[in-house]
Amino acid sequence: MAGAGQGILTVRREPLMNVLGRMRKREQETAVTYVIAEPCVDVLDKACIEECPVDCIYEGDRMLYIHPDECVDCGACEPVCPVEAIYYEDDVPDQWKDYTKANADFFDELGSPGGAAKVGKVANDPQFVKALPQQAAHE
Ligand code: SF4
Ligand code: SF4
Repeated sequence: MAGAGQGILTVRREPLMNVLGRMRKREQETAVTYVIAEPCVDVLDKACIEECPVDCIYEGDRMLYIHPDECVDCGACEPVCPVEAIYYEDDVPDQWKDYTKANADFFDELGSPGGAAKVGKVANDPQFVKALPQQAAHE
């Protein structure tokens, strides 16, 4: 009888471990981040920075960039952007797909500082962002 009971416990415990394992694997496979795209260029009003709970939005010369590893994907920044520059990675419009890579490339030399406030402005804008014509002022 005891053996039968242990059998049931074992059967129940193994699926739970399997489920947790699948959840972890799925989290890793679907890990995405938020991305700042072209509408931010020459706006930089920093409304998003105020909302970010982990201080992972860094300032370049022409726009801001979200650190892909430090972002916790909370989504708090996206609705406050006055020019709709912030997108969930999967939702970045086709014409701004290069900005997903730009948000990552910005940190090639910086690495993961663990907070934008102590870093300040960094002139690491990707070349194609540097080369953009001055954007019209947004009201
Ligand atoms: S999604 Fe959350 S953690 Fe990521 S940049 Fe926006 S506010 Fe910060
Ligand atoms: S709120 Fe939008 S426009 Fe303002 S700095 Fe952030 S991403 Fe750029």
